[in-house]
Amino acid sequence: MDISCDKDELALLERISVAAQALDVECYLIGGFVRDKILGRPTKDADIVCTGDGIQLAHEVANALKPSPKVSFFKNFGTAHFRYHHFDVEFVGARKESYREHSRKPDVAPGTLEDDQKRRDFTINALAISLNRADYGKLVDPFGGMADLEAKIIRTPLDPDITFSDDPLRMMRCIRFANQLGFTIVPESFDAIIRNRERIRIISQERITDELNKIMLTPKPSTGLDLLYKSGLLKEFFPQLVELAGVEMVEGKGHKDNFYHTLQVLDNVAARSSDLWLRWAALLHDIAKPATKRFEPGHGWTFHGHEVVGERMVPKIFKQLKLPLNERMKYVAKLVALHLRPIGLAKEDITDSAMRRLLFDAGDELDDLMVLCESDITSKNKQKVKRYLENFELVKERLKEVEETDRIRNWQPPIDGADIMKIFNLPPSRNVGIIKTAVREAILDGIIPNEYEAAYTYMLQKAAELGLQPVS
Ligand code: ATP
Repeated sequence: MDISCDKDELALLERISVAAQALDVECYLIGGFVRDKILGRPTKDADIVCTGDGIQLAHEVANALKPSPKVSFFKNFGTAHFRYHHFDVEFVGARKESYREHSRKPDVAPGTLEDDQKRRDFTINALAISLNRADYGKLVDPFGGMADLEAKIIRTPLDPDITFSDDPLRMMRCIRFANQLGFTIVPESFDAIIRNRERIRIISQERITDELNKIMLTPKPSTGLDLLYKSGLLKEFFPQLVELAGVEMVEGKGHKDNFYHTLQVLDNVAARSSDLWLRWAALLHDIAKPATKRFEPGHGWTFHGHEVVGERMVPKIFKQLKLPLNERMKYVAKLVALHLRPIGLAKEDITDSAMRRLLFDAGDELDDLMVLCESDITSKNKQKVKRYLENFELVKERLKEVEETDRIRNWQPPIDGADIMKIFNLPPSRNVGIIKTAVREAILDGIIPNEYEAAYTYMLQKAAELGLQPVS
């Protein structure tokens, strides 16, 4: 089998081969490394399987390398790993696995190469290349993985009901690989996912979300999310997203299918940005539409306040999906809250103060918000999309102008809470907040200029209305 390896890789594989011969064990390259090399994709870590003790082989190889890399190993799992230059190499002894009903942790026993290939998730992940002297470089492909790579299909090596039921994480991996590689899942395997979907419940949410994030990071995440939806897996761990699907009709009027609209927005964002969290904001921007949906007779469907309710749903969803509950979550919630604002400015006679307010509220997130908002313009009517996008360009230009004159992004008002407490000798209290907000709002509304003198005078006036006088 000819795969393109660089000089360093070839030298390392040669070392492994020599070490395996010295220990009198068979050894093979296997799994994702082989798959990706054949596909011409970049490779990360190389997996080596041997019919014997993988840890011993790792040490033997490491000892022969200069400088010797440090081998880390897990005795319980019989695996060892080292990093040599830019390679991560993983060693494992070939094994046979048998599973029990409520766990994805199998009973493991030493086995042959073929036993080991059988426990792999997909035919394209079960390909092995020999590193043995007798047939160095020979492809070992008992399940037709090579043909499947060529046909761009994903298929399990064994009965898919067994493969998926044994380790239900494989259902997520199946859809993730289909999405990442642009492959098609064969109907027997996809039908087995539908049948086994409830088994996903035995998998930890962290692992599920890890796969979901890999899907979110592909160039066209909608494909993976649609497969998750159609297989029924999505409903198992993310029912709120499934709630978006479907169109209701009243008095002959329907609304758009918010699930497919969301996927379209997600793809639009993905075409503009590789940032995972901006993509999450796209996925969640309309999440509260089902909760806020109303039919107003004579008018049609409305989703009033979905951005506010959506903002509040974000922490709950992040918790449920075991996503980080930190500034990433706040960022997503903020974008969900603000996602309607820029397009709301695409009307005539919008004042500078409305622009200033958006600049102030969005702060550092303004550019990302604009990407989200622009991506949210989806319609089958091309003319309509074109008109909206043109209006949106005008909003962008005006925001730029206002920002250039007022410098409002990341702006701090010239008088802050600490100043107010000092000037009026006040403890932290409600009145401090009232005065502070009044000064800020007056500047944002253009009532007073963004200068200390004007802010000071205005502050005195507001304080007087509350019966407060400066101490000196
Ligand atoms: P990626 O690095 O993109 O996740 P990969 O195929 O290298 O792709 P790994 O998770 O590193 O994925 O797994 C390496 C190999 O181990 C796989 O190619 C596959 O043969 C096997 N494997 C991994 N996870 C499973 C699993 N849950 N069930 C069966 N085999 C698996």
